[in-house]
Amino acid sequence: MAGREGCLARRLLALLVPAAIVAAVPVHAFAQATLNLVTDTRVIGDENRTRFVADLTTDVDVRVFPLADPYRIVIDLPEVHFQLPAGMGETGRGLITAWRFGLISRGQSRIVLDATGPVRVDDYFVIPAVPGAGEPARLVVDLVTTTPAEFETAALEYQQSRAPTAPVALPVDDGRTVIVIDPGHGGIDTGAIGLQNLVEKQVVLAFSQELAAQLRATGRYDVILTRTDDTFLSLDNRVAFARTRGADVFLSIHADSFPSSSTVRGTAVYTVSERASNEIAAQLAAGENRADILAGVNIAAGDDLVADILVDLARRETNRFSVALARDLVDEMEAATVMSRSPHQEAGFVVLKAPDVPSVLVELGFLTNPDDARNLGSETWRRTTAAAMVGAIEAFFATRVAGALRP
Ligand SMILES: [Zn+2]
Repeated sequence: MAGREGCLARRLLALLVPAAIVAAVPVHAFAQATLNLVTDTRVIGDENRTRFVADLTTDVDVRVFPLADPYRIVIDLPEVHFQLPAGMGETGRGLITAWRFGLISRGQSRIVLDATGPVRVDDYFVIPAVPGAGEPARLVVDLVTTTPAEFETAALEYQQSRAPTAPVALPVDDGRTVIVIDPGHGGIDTGAIGLQNLVEKQVVLAFSQELAAQLRATGRYDVILTRTDDTFLSLDNRVAFARTRGADVFLSIHADSFPSSSTVRGTAVYTVSERASNEIAAQLAAGENRADILAGVNIAAGDDLVADILVDLARRETNRFSVALARDLVDEMEAATVMSRSPHQEAGFVVLKAPDVPSVLVELGFLTNPDDARNLGSETWRRTTAAAMVGAIEAFFATRVAGALRP
């Protein structure tokens, strides 16, 4: 689906659709002034192409997905109050037979469109409100017909993309800049083993503690480590850790191994992507993602972050910040140490999947290369390389308002 970037013509069309006349707002509604109200919903179009429109008092982020048996399209949105006349949604038109709406869980509302048969979400977007002109925000979802097989595939892909993680209570942003450093592996999961019996989980913890100390010394950041000793954390828990602590950035620290060639070396910075930069990056991500399996953590079947990336609008914005941070890191670290030939790469790292926290994974070097191994074991190298990372983080926040980082 094309997401919220609908073509201009369609946006204009939506504006031309007359909103139903809304009854005068009752006095008690002023007490709920901060709550987003859905003031009207309507369906237009025919059995080839049908548009669902909802008017809201303020803009909203939505998630739209198909649900099979029976054919439905679900629109999830933050908690809103439906101020709609009785009977609204009982009869539809075109591809929509009826629709329902209400609270689905604390803080989350839902609209369910019943479809006549297999449909595809051709586009959906939210046109921002124009308060001065009295124009509400408009949520628009366009449906077209599709085949049963395509509907099933889309519904399945979406379900598989939704990791059954526990709901995360996000903290209120108090304006402090929070940096979460995630030393990879730990406990039962040793990570890579390299030359001189270097163990990844120990090397990355030592480095993370050096980096944390230097960041704290600036006095500008709250720095929290996901682990400060030899304990195991699942990948999901690392992500949840960053989110619950209101991280403004998340840095996962790792070290590579490449047993088949001791000449491969260098530092590289990774951001999450649907498609890996190359086969080696893909293998690396697969290896890091196996951490939970190795530790005996039950992995939800079909936990496919790739599809999740596509549906999560917030993540696109977050990813822009992640890429910017990765570039800042490469720029600064190049002067301090030997970088990989392609120092910024992308791959499907599970630990980078927080939708609202800019996240990067730094592979400090190869434990299987003699020069890198020597560096990784050296306190001096750790100090200078961490200093370069601090410089990059300073540059990142200097050019971006910390409070605006979380989309
Ligand atoms: Zn690792």
